Amino acid sequence: MKKKRIVAKSVYTLADLKKGVEVDPPVRLGVFGDPVEHSFSPQMQNAALKQCKIDMQYARFHISPNELREAFDLIRKLDFVGVNLTIPHKISALELLDSVDDNVKRIGAVNVIKVESGKLHGFNTDGRGFSRAVREEFSVDLRDLRVMVLGAGGAARAIALQCAKENCERLVIANGTFEKGQRLADSLRNFFEGPKVLGPVPRLQAIPWEERAFQFQVANVDLVVNATPVGLNRGDPSPIPSRLLAPHVMVYDTIYAEKRTPFVSAAIEAGARAANGLSMLLHQGALAFEIWFRREAPLEVMRKAL
Ligand code: NAP
Repeated sequence: MKKKRIVAKSVYTLADLKKGVEVDPPVRLGVFGDPVEHSFSPQMQNAALKQCKIDMQYARFHISPNELREAFDLIRKLDFVGVNLTIPHKISALELLDSVDDNVKRIGAVNVIKVESGKLHGFNTDGRGFSRAVREEFSVDLRDLRVMVLGAGGAARAIALQCAKENCERLVIANGTFEKGQRLADSLRNFFEGPKVLGPVPRLQAIPWEERAFQFQVANVDLVVNATPVGLNRGDPSPIPSRLLAPHVMVYDTIYAEKRTPFVSAAIEAGARAANGLSMLLHQGALAFEIWFRREAPLEVMRKAL
């Protein structure tokens, strides 16, 4: 007899995880966050699981910081394949894992966990997801771009490291807390010793969060990336106002809460090309699927589900 499919709840809690989350097909993947209600990952990953005929479900779990250790113990016991991590767990999870890859070590943040033989292994797919998103949105590779990254948190560090690894032409880090941006730039210095000749501007640089600094840099970069949460909340301004942008720049906003985020709107107003973070979400998710199942992700099905 054909089993009745029970769709997973919109959001589970630690208490549900303790009970084993009894639905059919079983939940063996998920995203841990606090808040987590906003996450688009279930629709994308469940579409991929269905397409690949993998008999399991992916669900949202509201897990607070003090519940994370117990939640990790439970996914070990419940035979989970893995989980994604979102705010506020990406950094604090590191010390609870059995191993992390080099990317995670350098970035200091983890967004994908694979469970294997009761051990938790950490990965970060944000940087490679970003790189694929930029290629898709603007038909250009990072190695050919002068990039300015706004922010120096987890997402910004993943993006900056990816730009460095792909030998981008130039990298500028702008952060509110200048010293943090400076530390990020210093950690990438060894990638920028090669001979790309660019005239008077340095290949790698941290700048203060100031209008004059933005104005100068916009004239000397091709791509501006927002990796801050500015734009997530209704009524937020654009991280850089339209009058400081220019038609030659491409703008990538990692925020995907709406199609036209404040930064995307400012870019369009300035005559620039712009994209929101949905494509990065798609590609980091596809890369996570590939880590979990060691097979190619059904990208078009995932895209459609988003
Ligand atoms: P995070 O680690 O908390 O870092 C936040 C960064 O933003 C810090 O550098 C902080 O500067 C800066 N910042 C915070 N408020 C600011 C403000 N009002 N003005 C200027 N700068 C401000 O956060 P995260 O995990 O990197 O996430 C950042 C963003 O990336 C989020 O919006 C998230 O949605 C997005 N994201 C998207 C994807 C995707 O797939 N599309 C993936 C990952 C993340 P200070 O150092 O001065 O505090």
